[in-house]
Amino acid sequence: MELYKTNQLKIYNSLSKTKEVFKPVIEGKVGMYVCGPTVYSNVHLGNVRTFMSFDMIFRYLKHLGYKVRYVRNITDAGHLENDADAGEDRIAKKARLEEIEPMEVVQRYTVDFHETLQKINNLPPSIEPTATGHIVEQIEIIKDILEKGLAYEVNGSVYFDVLKYNENEHYGILSGRNIEDSIHNTRELDGQSEKKNPQDFALWKKADERHIMRWPSPWSNGFPGWHLECSAMSTKYLGETFDIHGGGMDLKFPHHECEIAQSKTKNGVEPVNYWMHANMLILNGQKMAKSTGNYILPNEIFSGDNKILSKAFSPSATRFFMLQANYRSILDFTSTGLEAAEKGYIKLMEAISSIDKIETSNSSSINILAWKQKCYDAMNDDFNTPVLIANLFEAVKFVNLLIEKKATILSEDLAIFKTTLNAFIFDVLGLKNELQQDSSDKLSGVVEMLIGMRKEARDNKNWALSDKIRDELAALGIQLKDGKEGTTFSIN
Ligand SMILES: [Zn+2]
Repeated sequence: MELYKTNQLKIYNSLSKTKEVFKPVIEGKVGMYVCGPTVYSNVHLGNVRTFMSFDMIFRYLKHLGYKVRYVRNITDAGHLENDADAGEDRIAKKARLEEIEPMEVVQRYTVDFHETLQKINNLPPSIEPTATGHIVEQIEIIKDILEKGLAYEVNGSVYFDVLKYNENEHYGILSGRNIEDSIHNTRELDGQSEKKNPQDFALWKKADERHIMRWPSPWSNGFPGWHLECSAMSTKYLGETFDIHGGGMDLKFPHHECEIAQSKTKNGVEPVNYWMHANMLILNGQKMAKSTGNYILPNEIFSGDNKILSKAFSPSATRFFMLQANYRSILDFTSTGLEAAEKGYIKLMEAISSIDKIETSNSSSINILAWKQKCYDAMNDDFNTPVLIANLFEAVKFVNLLIEKKATILSEDLAIFKTTLNAFIFDVLGLKNELQQDSSDKLSGVVEMLIGMRKEARDNKNWALSDKIRDELAALGIQLKDGKEGTTFSIN
C-alpha cells in the first residue's frame, strides 16, 4: 500500500497562512509548479536553496508513493530589469554587454544552472518548459483577458487592468498587500507611463527596433510580460487548478499575485490549492550583494575559492547544512555553520557505513518503530527537515550503542532501521555518501598502482612477482584483464 494512505501530510499554505492537510486534486497524483530561474547569470546561492527545498519536497512526495509531475520553467525572455515592466530585458542586456546572441546567454546559464543543481544532487523536474517555447499559448491568454475586458492595449503593448480586476476579485490575496500599497515600481521611468494605473502590469510589451527577442502578435512585434509565462505553462501542463505552486519568498509579490490574477481571469477558477514559499538565504548575517563583497557563488563553496570560507565544502555537506534549517526560515550561510554541518554529515555517514557491523539479538531494547514514526511525523509536519535530522542523530546514537553492545536489536527491527535510515538520508534528503565515494576512489588508486608495479615486474621478466600480484588481487575479488590498451580491472 502506498505510504500516502497512512501518512497525513500537512503543508503550510502561504495563501491561508495555516498548515493544511494535503489533499491532491486527483488521488495519488500531485501536480507541482515551481518558478525557475531567469537564465542571464550564474545561479545565485539563494536560488540554489529554493530549488533544493522544492527538490526535498518533490522527493518526499515521491517517497510517499505519489505520482508527481514537477514542472519548473526556464525564463529565457520577457524578464525586464525592473519588475515594474521597465528597463531592458535581462537576457538581451547581457547579450549586448557580452556581444553574443541572447540564445547564447540562455544556453550558457541554463547549462550552469543544471550543472550546479546536479552537483548538489537535485533531481531534474518532470518537465522544464521555456517561455520562448510558449509564445503562442501566452498570446492566446492575452486575447482572452482582453475579450473579458480586464486588459487594455496602448501603443502596441497590453496591460492587465488591476483596479478593474479588483472590483470583483482580490488583488493582493497572497501577499496581503492593499491595492493602494501594491504599486509595483519604486521609480517610474520617463516615458514608461503608458499604464492607466501604476499597479497595472504588462501582458505584452512592444519591442523597440534594437530588441532582438521579439515575436509577432496582434498588437505589435514584441514579447510577453514576465508573469504570463507561468500562467501559460502551469495551466498547459498541470491543468486549470493544480496542487502545489512554489517559489522563493521574493516572488510572492508581484509575480505570484499577477499569476493568480491572470489565471483566474482566464480560467475562472482558483489556479492553485497550496502555495508554498521557500525563505531567503543571507550570508554572514547580511544580505548577499556583489557590491559589498558579501557574496559567494555555489561553485566557490565546492572549490573553497572565496575569502568568506575557511576551506572547501563538498556538495553533500552543503546540502546537509541547508536542510538543517526549515525551508520557511531564513538561513544564515556562514563558514562556521558549514564546518559544524560537515562534522554532523560525516557522523551520519560513518554510522551508515558501520551499520553492517551490528549483530542482532533475540530482543530489541530500542523502539525502532517509535523512532521511525517520529521521522515520518517530522516530514508530515510541513517537511520539517531539522526535526527529521535530529531524529537521524538519534539513530546515530542507536548505531553506536548497538555496536558497543550496550543495546540489542531483533533482526526484523534492524531491517526496518536500515531501510528507514537509507530512505530518509539518501532518497528524501538527497544526500550522497561521499565517504564511500572517497574510499572507492582510493581503492581504484591502489589497484592502478599495483597494475603499474606488475607491469614493471613483467618488463623485468619477474614473472613470479607479476603472477603473485594478479593472483592475490583475484583472491580479493579484483580481476585483472590484459588487453591491447593495457591492463584494466573489475571488482566483484
Ligand atoms: Zn513564475
